[in-house]
Amino acid sequence: MTVAERSLSILGVTGSVGRSTIQVIEELRRQGLSLPVEAVTAGRNLAGLAEACRRLKPRYAAVADTGLLGAARDALTGLEIEVGAGPSALEEAGARPSAWVMAAIVGAAGLRPTMAAVRRGAVVALANKECLVCAGPLFTEAARRHGATLLPVDSEHNAIFQVLTHPAHVEKLTLTASGGPFLSTSLEVMATATPAQACAHPRWSMGRKISVDSATLMNKGLELIEAAYLFDIADTKIDVIVHPQSTVHSLVHYVDGSVLAQMAAPDMRIPIAFALTWPNRACFATERLDLAKLGALTFHAPDLERFPALSLCRNALRQGAAATTALSAANEVAVEFFLAGGIGFLDIARTAGAALEALSNEEAALIANSPTSFAEVAAVDQAARGAARRIAGRLAAA
Ligand code: NAD
Ligand code: MG
Repeated sequence: MTVAERSLSILGVTGSVGRSTIQVIEELRRQGLSLPVEAVTAGRNLAGLAEACRRLKPRYAAVADTGLLGAARDALTGLEIEVGAGPSALEEAGARPSAWVMAAIVGAAGLRPTMAAVRRGAVVALANKECLVCAGPLFTEAARRHGATLLPVDSEHNAIFQVLTHPAHVEKLTLTASGGPFLSTSLEVMATATPAQACAHPRWSMGRKISVDSATLMNKGLELIEAAYLFDIADTKIDVIVHPQSTVHSLVHYVDGSVLAQMAAPDMRIPIAFALTWPNRACFATERLDLAKLGALTFHAPDLERFPALSLCRNALRQGAAATTALSAANEVAVEFFLAGGIGFLDIARTAGAALEALSNEEAALIANSPTSFAEVAAVDQAARGAARRIAGRLAAA
C-alpha cells in the first residue's frame, strides 16, 4: 500500500504522542497525501477530542469513560462522527478497518484496544510500551499469529528498528537514556522532589506518567523489557547507557564489531512520521542535527543506586513475563500516588519493588509462571495493583 491511500486510527489522540501524530498527519496531508482517519479515542479530555476530530475528520470517536457518552456527543455536535464510550467502544476503535493504527494510550489501559488492532492483522505503530511490557510474549505471539506488523514508535526502539539490518548477527543492543531531570541530583534532594520537578524533563515534552517514569528511570527499565520482547533478545544482551544530549537514540552492535546507531533531534514527530510512512519516508521539516553546534556527545553508565527502578525491571525480566506484568502495573499505581501527592519520589520504586516481592511471597504460583492468556495477564495486573495500593497507602499514612 502506498502512503497516499493509507487509512489510520489513533488510540490516545489527545495525549502527547497523539497530538504529535495529528501534526505529522497534517504535514503529510499538506504534501498531498490523503491519510483518511477511521477512528480516534480519548480518555476523558473532550475538548482535546473535539479539536482532534475537527482537524482529522474521523468516522468514529470513542471516550474511555462510559458516563461521558452524552457529553462527548455534545462536544462533537455538527461533525457527523459516530460516537462511542466505554471499554467496548475503545476496542471498537481498534477493530475498525484502518490499515494503520497508532497505539498511543498510556498504561495497561491500551492493551485491549491495541489487541483489537493486532487481531485483525493491522500495521500497529506502537507507542504504548506498557501493553507490550504487560502482555509480553502473548502480545508478540498474537501479532505473529494474526499477521500484524509492529512498528516501534518509542524513540529508542524505533532507532533499533531502523538499524536492525542483520537480526541474525546481533551481538547486543544499547538503549540510550537521557537521565531525566534528576541526572545529577543527590538522593537527599530526590527524596523531596515534587511532581512538577519530576515532570520537567530536560529534553522531551511528554505525558505525566512517562515523565515521572523518565525521572525514576523506570521508563528505561520498561524499555529494556519492551526491547527484549519486541526484538526477542535476552536481557544479558541489552545495555543501558546515559546520554544526556538525547541525540543517539539507540545502537545495535553486530558480531563483526560494527555498531549502527540512529541519530536525530529529540522530536517524537520523527519516529512517528517514520512509522506512519514506513517502508517509505516522507519529507519532514523537523529541526536538523547540527553536530558542530552540539560539539560533544557524552555517555556514562547509569547510577543503579539512585535509580533502583532499572534493576527492578532487569530482575523482573529474568523472573519472567508475570513479573514484568506485575511490575508495570504496580508502577502505574505508584506513579498515580506520587502525582496525587500521596507518596514521595523515592517511594515509587520502593512501592513497585515491594509489590512484586509481596506477590512473589503470597501468590507464588501467580507470579512464577508466564501468563498463558490475556485473562491471566489481567489477574496478575489486578493482584499487583492491589498490592501496590496497600503498600503505597501504608507509606502515605506513615
Ligand atoms: P499522555 O498521558 O499524554 O496521553 C495518553 C492518552 O491516553 C491520552 O489520549 C489519554 O486521554 C488516553 N488515556 C489515558 N488513560 C486512559 C484510559 N484509562 N483509557 C483510555 N485512554 C486513556 O501520554 P503520552 O506521553 O502520549 O504517552 C502515550 C504512550 O506512549 C505511553 O505508553 C508512553 O510510554 C509512550 N511513549 C510516549 C512518548 C512521548 O514522548 N510522550 C515517547 C515514547 C513512548
Ligand atoms: Mg523512549
